[in-house]
Amino acid sequence: MAQAAYDLAIIGGGPAGLSAGIYGARAGLSTVILEQLSPGGQVITTDMVENYPGFTEPISGYEIAGKMIEQATKFGVEIRSSDVTGINDPPGEDHKLLLMGDESLSALAVIIATGAHHRRLGVPGEDRFWGRGVSCCATCDGMFYRDKEVVVVGGGDTAVKEAMFLTRFASKITLVHRRDRLRATNILRDRILAMTDKVDFSWKTVVKEIMGDDNVAAVRLSSVDTGAERVLECDGVFIFVGFTPNTKFLDGFIKLDERGYVITDEDMATSVPGVFACGDARKKLLRQIITACGEGATAAFAAQHYVEDIKGTAYE
Ligand code: NAP
Repeated sequence: MAQAAYDLAIIGGGPAGLSAGIYGARAGLSTVILEQLSPGGQVITTDMVENYPGFTEPISGYEIAGKMIEQATKFGVEIRSSDVTGINDPPGEDHKLLLMGDESLSALAVIIATGAHHRRLGVPGEDRFWGRGVSCCATCDGMFYRDKEVVVVGGGDTAVKEAMFLTRFASKITLVHRRDRLRATNILRDRILAMTDKVDFSWKTVVKEIMGDDNVAAVRLSSVDTGAERVLECDGVFIFVGFTPNTKFLDGFIKLDERGYVITDEDMATSVPGVFACGDARKKLLRQIITACGEGATAAFAAQHYVEDIKGTAYE
């Protein structure tokens, strides 16, 4: 039987994958993290984290991710830049094969920590102006809108946090939400509702079109109740209408729910033995850094037991 190159391969290098890496390496597993982009995950673009225990003052997402990467590397986790396009479970073999273009890599256990990407609105003008006035990252693009007017779409925690960040630059923000109540947590909701000098709210409204010439110049809005339309001039549109899990490459391999989230049990085990999942790609109630980290630790612990059973090194 061929020997696996690694005990544990983790796909995705955000907080969930990095936490799994730290726990896996500390448990003595040879551990690799395969990351499509640079490690850190979505949290890197978060301006300010204030609900991660242990930090009494807000800490930037960039800094927190940097510390996690440093910690994982310190314990011997190898971080490789690779785009995993599929997983094979060769019959009669102990290991799984991770497919990466012309290459493949073998590991006894696999943890999926691929996270999620921003969902799009799917309206005319969105693709055309993407990167030229349409964005999903205020931390990356906010400074281009100094003294300009922007529209923020969405009513969840992300939309509210990003809109608050944009108040540092933009002269006016119109938050467009399809309902008359924000989905965001109370503390964030109260803060943004108090920002009346800079933030306007367009309730029960949807964006029908993003308009402009070379750059964004306006959005066409429609009332959810009456269908009445109006054009609102703006210099930029920031879209935060939720996320889609990065699990397309797993279709047909493990059980996903109807929205593509990986279904696991409470020990992070998926429908395929030896494959575990954690973080935002997993079907669950709460998507936060702390839940991603906790699930990463559990997934690695479960993977450790799985690997030790295969190797015959498990404690009785
Ligand atoms: P979310 O909670 O799913 O909210 C998405 C928002 O977009 C909702 O307000 C939704 O409206 C709206 N929406 C969805 N599809 C739309 C469409 N086609 N057109 C117009 N509006 C649409 O997503 P999120 O805000 O990105 O948050 C994702 C997760 O990360 C959540 O669990 C959140 O708590 C967490 N998060 C936490 C923090 C934090 O600081 N604690 C920060 C960011 C994110 P409805 O309300 O009508 O459904």
